[in-house]
Amino acid sequence: MGQSKEYIRLAADLQSDSIVDGPGLRTVIWTQGCSHHCKGCQNPQTWDFNGGGLVPIEMVKEAIDELENQDGITFSGGDPMFQVEACLEIAKYCKEKGYNIWVYTGFTYEEIMKMSKKNPSYKEFLSYIDILVDGRFILKERDLSLLFRGSRNQRLIDVKKTIKNNEIVLLDEDEYFEKSSFKKKTIYV
Ligand code: SF4
Repeated sequence: MGQSKEYIRLAADLQSDSIVDGPGLRTVIWTQGCSHHCKGCQNPQTWDFNGGGLVPIEMVKEAIDELENQDGITFSGGDPMFQVEACLEIAKYCKEKGYNIWVYTGFTYEEIMKMSKKNPSYKEFLSYIDILVDGRFILKERDLSLLFRGSRNQRLIDVKKTIKNNEIVLLDEDEYFEKSSFKKKTIYV
């Protein structure tokens, strides 16, 4: 997929008021395109890199301007990492607006760091992310009791602490929910 800073290919309109894509009331940006093709993926319609619709990033920003009562923004898909330049532009804007950012990706954190050696935008995108939910969905690792993720191999990575410590730091769920206004909640996907 070609990279653009002006357009993003989306699978759907922005979806507000989600309670299953991270804590609080969140708006989800459903990116189109994913080549991981995980068995049991819930959104196979988002795999096609020519599917969905090409949307000017300015329009996405306008939609973000109109949001009300949202605690955060979640990038999901599809896999946002396939459109890192566009997602970076949007993430910068979300942070300017003070939103907490979660990103779901089929890549592992380590794979993203490797990719960032060729394209520093991956690392820059990471710097705007609060929590990265990483790794492919593995059907035999599926666990309905997990917080905000579908399979046991997937991790809720505290990106700020991970960058600071230069090693993977997982989200301390109790601390996170105690300090923030988010309620701890298990989801069933
Ligand atoms: S990474 Fe996500 S969107 Fe892509 S195939 Fe796996 S579960 Fe589906």
